[in-house]
This record gives sequence, structure tokens and C-alpha cells, in this order.
Amino acid sequence: MAAKIPIAQQRMFANVFICRDCSKKVRTQATRVIAKKVKCPRCGSHTFRPIRKK
Ligand SMILES: [Zn+2]
Repeated sequence: MAAKIPIAQQRMFANVFICRDCSKKVRTQATRVIAKKVKCPRCGSHTFRPIRKK
């Protein structure tokens, strides 16, 4: 039923990821996160999660 995500929310949270180690928000592209090309500016970690996950 609630499978469809509203487009507005999708746009708002798209390309924003959170560092798994220090919870710093980083705006980048998902492909760059998957390819581990993104480094956390605070702790230098390469592991991120999408912002929408609770
Ligand atoms: Zn970090």
C-alpha cells in the first residue's frame, strides 16, 4: 500500500547520506557512495547510509 514514496520527499532526501561512524550528513550521488569515492569530511570513513533509513 505505502510502497510509493512521494516525489517531493524523494527529491529532498535524494543524494544525502549519513556517515555510519559519526552521523555526519554528506550530500553526494548514490553512485559515488557505492563506488566508495566519498570520504567523510569529519572522520574519513567510507561507509555511508541513506538518510531515509530510521
Ligand atoms: Zn564520519
